[in-house]
Amino acid sequence: MSLTHNFSAGPAKLPEPVLERAQAELRDWQGRGVSVMEISHRSDAFMALRNQAEDSLRALLAVPDDYDILFLQGGATLQFAMTALNLSTPTDTIDFAITGSWGRKAIAEASRFATGHAAATLDFDGLVPDVEAWSLSEQAAYCHYTPNETIDGVEFHVTPKLPDDVPLVADFSSSILSRPIDVSEHALIYAGAQKNIGPAGLTVVILRRALMPARRDGIPELMNYQVHSQAQSLRNTPPTFAWYLAGLVFEWLQAQGGLDVMAQRNQQKAELLYRALDASEFYTAPVPPLARSRMNVIFRLTDESLQKRWLAEAEAAGLLGLKGHRSVGGLRASLYNAVSLDSVRVLVDFLTDFEARCG
Ligand code: PMP
Repeated sequence: MSLTHNFSAGPAKLPEPVLERAQAELRDWQGRGVSVMEISHRSDAFMALRNQAEDSLRALLAVPDDYDILFLQGGATLQFAMTALNLSTPTDTIDFAITGSWGRKAIAEASRFATGHAAATLDFDGLVPDVEAWSLSEQAAYCHYTPNETIDGVEFHVTPKLPDDVPLVADFSSSILSRPIDVSEHALIYAGAQKNIGPAGLTVVILRRALMPARRDGIPELMNYQVHSQAQSLRNTPPTFAWYLAGLVFEWLQAQGGLDVMAQRNQQKAELLYRALDASEFYTAPVPPLARSRMNVIFRLTDESLQKRWLAEAEAAGLLGLKGHRSVGGLRASLYNAVSLDSVRVLVDFLTDFEARCG
């Protein structure tokens, strides 16, 4: 077992058995005498890998048959524009539920291509208002939300139930595969890979096939969902190694027992950490319990002058990636699927020990 406990927000920890397998197979994949990075993305062997990865992801998330799964590039950030370009026209309004930094970036980018409307923001208590209180537009092209805000540590604990005719689009970058989700409640889901899927460089999009073709002409070919769908995500050279690693992560998740098991583990890890923070006056966890993320736990030292020392000592103890995002400061522990309960226990012991010494 590694002596380092990696709480990085992304790129983030990958499951150790996945790294071991990739290491073992690196120079000689499937007895071919070459690595998976060195073969054609159009070879039968890579096509089999591609299909296997899609089948595993489809099974893990119980993706309905009328949805396509695309393996793209450009990160979640490109999806801010790509969703708008494919699902709206220039005269449309797009609704956004904004619960943190990524939602703000999503509306800013989409507003370059249509009218972005903030239909909901966090209320005075830091909670997501009920859907009945959202100011939805008359005929929004779609409504976008961020199920888990990675920087702010705010998570939706239930999927917002919108009127049937409003397609729901979700940026699941930092909570996909952390628990089961009902894909059919969404028109489109996207996620950058570098948290719960695999290494950076791959972006997964799951979309209802009826959303294609794009609602406007003239968009770049590689930003057109239908182009990727028809080419089985092989319109141009894909990030083959990232795709391979994602496939190994999906297999690992299936071997763990799937997303019900992951949800249970993730709940346990988050509870352990929030309980320790709430029990102490030395630390504060500012997000109200009903909106707390199970993936990104945001906290602060009450005496912030101790933060630099806290981080240095944490790193010396093998606890990495705990600095909050540069835009908000403070501390953040990301508890993605590959982070074990044991690592969270080590973090809690460190929190307690530091407080005992410096509190
Ligand atoms: N949305 C969310 C929720 C994220 O956490 C991130 C990255 N941390 C992004 C979007 C942007 O992703 P990328 O860097 O892959 O474009």
